[in-house]
Amino acid sequence: MSGLRDLYQEVILDHNKRPRNFRVLEPCSHHADGYNPLCGDQVTVYLDVEDEVIRDVSFQGSGCAISTASASLMTDALKGKPITEVEALFEQFHDLVTGAAQPSAKVGKLAVLAGVQDYPSRVKCATLAWHTVKAALENRSEPVKTE
Ligand code: ZN
Repeated sequence: MSGLRDLYQEVILDHNKRPRNFRVLEPCSHHADGYNPLCGDQVTVYLDVEDEVIRDVSFQGSGCAISTASASLMTDALKGKPITEVEALFEQFHDLVTGAAQPSAKVGKLAVLAGVQDYPSRVKCATLAWHTVKAALENRSEPVKTE
């Protein structure tokens, strides 16, 4: 298992160092801000939704390695997905990082964040971007807080 852990660690470090889709999306149909006061992570998520499908998704912000890598991996995972699938994927991801479920094929590359379950205080870092996407899709204008 430790070999797999090392690989997961490497992917997280890579996404933290070179976050994917790290830019402002202009124009975009949805956006929202998220904040995790426990760790100080801040994220803004941008979505371009057309015909109920996420055509493009990006983020900006600053935070710890887990929050940045998670947001980066999330944008990769959500691009091209129907918005009706976002909630279910978030639930699977949440189960993964809280240790409620083993990684399944459905979560794909997001599985690299499974190690977060050993660090309960980091769960909010890992889920911040997801909470923020949910808020964006619901057109909530108040910034999202994980607390
Ligand atoms: Zn954090």
